[in-house]
Amino acid sequence: MMRTSEEYRQDLYKMKPNVYVRGKKVRRDSDELSGGINVISKTFDLVDNEYFKDILTAKSHLTGKKINRFTHINQSVEDLMKKQEVTRKLCRLVGGCIQRCMGCDAINGLSVATYFCDLEHGTDYHKKFLDYLKEFQERDLVAACAQTDVKGDRSKRPHEQSDPDMYVRVVEKRSDGVVVRGAKNCITMAAVADEIIVVPTRAMTEKDVNYSVAFAVPADTDGVKIISRTSKLRAPEGLKMPQGEIGDDENLIIFDDVFVPWERVFICGEYKYATLAAHLFALFHRHSYTGCKPASTDIMMGFGALIAEYNGVYDRPNIREKLVELAATAELVYAAGVASAVFGRKTPAGTYLPNEVYANVGRRHAGLNYYKELEILAELAGGLPAALPFVEDYLNPETRPLIEKYIKRKSDVPPEHVYRCLFGISNILCSSLGGVQAVAGVHGGGSPVMEEILIWRTYNFEKKKDIAKYLAGISEEIPKD
Ligand SMILES: Cc1cc2nc3c(=O)[nH]c(=O)nc-3n(C[C@H](O)[C@H](O)[C@H](O)COP(=O)(O)OP(=O)(O)OC[C@H]3O[C@@H](n4cnc5c(N)ncnc54)[C@H](O)[C@@H]3O)c2cc1C
Repeated sequence: MMRTSEEYRQDLYKMKPNVYVRGKKVRRDSDELSGGINVISKTFDLVDNEYFKDILTAKSHLTGKKINRFTHINQSVEDLMKKQEVTRKLCRLVGGCIQRCMGCDAINGLSVATYFCDLEHGTDYHKKFLDYLKEFQERDLVAACAQTDVKGDRSKRPHEQSDPDMYVRVVEKRSDGVVVRGAKNCITMAAVADEIIVVPTRAMTEKDVNYSVAFAVPADTDGVKIISRTSKLRAPEGLKMPQGEIGDDENLIIFDDVFVPWERVFICGEYKYATLAAHLFALFHRHSYTGCKPASTDIMMGFGALIAEYNGVYDRPNIREKLVELAATAELVYAAGVASAVFGRKTPAGTYLPNEVYANVGRRHAGLNYYKELEILAELAGGLPAALPFVEDYLNPETRPLIEKYIKRKSDVPPEHVYRCLFGISNILCSSLGGVQAVAGVHGGGSPVMEEILIWRTYNFEKKKDIAKYLAGISEEIPKD
């Protein structure tokens, strides 16, 4: 059954408090967490909206029931494309990240990794995973994906660390389940998620068997502590703006000897498939980025074009060049995602995988360009986003007429529109969440270097050498892909 956003909120509010913000343990109805909850609520509120209903819902391949797309396992190229499309369209409405894709990407990755693990090892992870998935879909759950371990000394593998807890690991195997210890950092929205799905962060070797673990736990399970850094866009009191409802939480999740029953353990010791689970979450997530990053650019493009119009310079060549640069980045990243879906392939598990090269070049291009896009917006906007009078002064009857007189641009544009537009840009360029989004633009889903490693491993440079050999007369064979 699909939940309403109110049911999602009420379910969160019933959870045991294990979230820490600014030195205090808070309940999930704390105002600190409301921004992220507002964002995720959109994924519930818009399921029947005409513009979204075809892309925000899907048919479960397990039950045939209508479910939220963020709980769906991609069954076709069309599914992959719809996921990318809905991500872009939702992210535009929430000023950046829709925050519900991580859990979706994790279940998609695990649907394949568990399948192949069972084939080789005779384990029953896939069946257990499908039981979990059924519950995930029936209860319309929201999950964080905790992949990024704290990692300690970056030059060392998990088993080489001087402190063995630098990567999440199994410390005890029992007849009814396992006990895990360690920590994951930079985990988006874990403080407002029903569930935390854990996958390994890197390739594992046979010496890393204890670290080769994937599982899911309710986010308030005993021993789980979530230390949350929250940020919000600045909300102008008295000047209602949808931007003002947006917030985010980035979390350090500590697994302090957490018991996980076997039904919720999806890989345990099979290091090759732990590696596959890590790899596939990253693949699905990079494909998601080809939806969300174009949305971030759409937002910057929108504000950049609007302020240029208000300034009366929209049609000048210097402005055109910058807007075209933004459009080119957004659409190239999106096109890479479309290509990744179109060249996706069906696995024996039934799940469709996005094409790896296209997903990775798309994500890399987005990551390398985020700060350039901010620079373009800053250029287009002028200096006022950093120097805009506070909204209290704008609303003060004594100062408002003066601010309006001196903020005015083109005569047919009301000064309030100029103020709102600059306020919106200030939120992107000068707020704490704007800063978080910029770092996420580079590192979320894997830093550009990680995409480079993947591209190096999967791209066929040998075929390119064949082209050179043919053209240089070294070989007469027509080069083929
Ligand atoms: C806002 C935000 C949200 C995020 N959300 C999530 C999430 O929901 N779930 C999740 O699992 N993760 C999430 N991440 C984590 C993200 O995937 C990581 O930040 C990213 O993978 C980089 O890892 P790191 O931060 O540990 O950086 P590091 O690994 O510390 O990298 C720092 C630098 O060191 C270099 N480096 C590291 N190791 C080596 C090496 N062995 N050799 C050479 N150079 C090296 C890197 O190239 C990089 O330049 C998020 C990150 C951000 C910023």
